[in-house]
Amino acid sequence: MTVAVFDIDGVVADVRHRVHHVEGRWKDWDSFFDTADEDPVLDVGAALVHEMAQLHDIVWLTGRPEWLRRTTARWLEDAGLPYASLNMRPHHDYRPARFYKLDRLKAIHAAAEGGIATFIDDDPDVIEVALGAGFPAQLAEWVPRNARSEATMREIQEKLGRT
Ligand SMILES: [Mg+2]
Repeated sequence: MTVAVFDIDGVVADVRHRVHHVEGRWKDWDSFFDTADEDPVLDVGAALVHEMAQLHDIVWLTGRPEWLRRTTARWLEDAGLPYASLNMRPHHDYRPARFYKLDRLKAIHAAAEGGIATFIDDDPDVIEVALGAGFPAQLAEWVPRNARSEATMREIQEKLGRT
């Protein structure tokens, strides 16, 4: 079976309501992660997951920390999304998201019989390295971006490696 790999935040989960917790210099990580269970579902992304699930196994690849697994699995279940295969950022792994995710993509590809059919992520840096490594990656562009949230997401994903 081939696999379709999906990011979570910005693809099926709308994190915009909690980004303000980590904007600016003083970051409230507890509040940022504690409110992850309140993320609205992004319907466009969820519909794409259901469509892909007809043809492929669904594998999640998120930069969320491993300790958020129960919250994340429950959120996926409540959203009616498959949650069997959930790759999360290991404890103390603060590498930029693009390095962490490329490593995991390679491992997922090696483990899947038919390889990776598609990979969807909302981070242009992640998509760039995935395409560079030969993976069929597509940028999720259904969440409207603004300069401030863009800068914050880049900082917490790429510079601080926290999600
Ligand atoms: Mg994302």
